[in-house]
Amino acid sequence: MGKIILPEFQKSSFNCPICGVFSVQYWRQLTEYLEFQSGEKSVTQMPIWSSHCSHCNQRSFWEEEGKIIIFPFVKKQQINPDLNEKIKDTLKQAILILEDSPPAAAAMLRLSLEMICDELNAEGGNLFEKICSIYEKEHIKVSTRAMHLVRIIVGNSIHFPPKIDLGDSEEIAKTLLGLIDIIAERVLTEPKKINDLWAKIPESKRLEIEKNEPHSEPKGEN
Ligand SMILES: [Zn+2]
Repeated sequence: MGKIILPEFQKSSFNCPICGVFSVQYWRQLTEYLEFQSGEKSVTQMPIWSSHCSHCNQRSFWEEEGKIIIFPFVKKQQINPDLNEKIKDTLKQAILILEDSPPAAAAMLRLSLEMICDELNAEGGNLFEKICSIYEKEHIKVSTRAMHLVRIIVGNSIHFPPKIDLGDSEEIAKTLLGLIDIIAERVLTEPKKINDLWAKIPESKRLEIEKNEPHSEPKGEN
């Protein structure tokens, strides 16, 4: 898989946001030409640039001041706000080229997964090893901590002093609602979605990975 160079304002070559292919780009500033009834003419340079792809012969359009792409439109796909900016950018670009170049988008999504693994301090030389190294490192811990939070917050707000100050009861109820939502998503919805897909890959692949998954016993607190 070749390295993907993200589109960037006035850069001479990158992976085209339309065809996804790494290609030379030709930049031009757009000009507005007006001819008035009086015969007067005006020529104005617009703050918009086009980037002409040497591979697909199509143009993307960019806004000068923000140096951001305005066409093709970035699809309104939710990107997790907790991801770091570099991963967000990679995902944005993947979304951008998803329809026109699914293989390039897929390569970018794999790259963003690797970046997420690195963010979680994964160890190992390849993605397989990195994924194995973060197995259950965070996911289970965070889910069960959310459950403990519900237990402790309800316990404190109803029965036991000293109370944890989390605001008024409405605020506490909203916090609990948010936690239940996170728990349901993590322990029910997410595993169901993943297991449904898991069942579709060849059994030999599944077994190969499953035998590498540690089956650890619960180990007390945290
Ligand atoms: Zn192109």
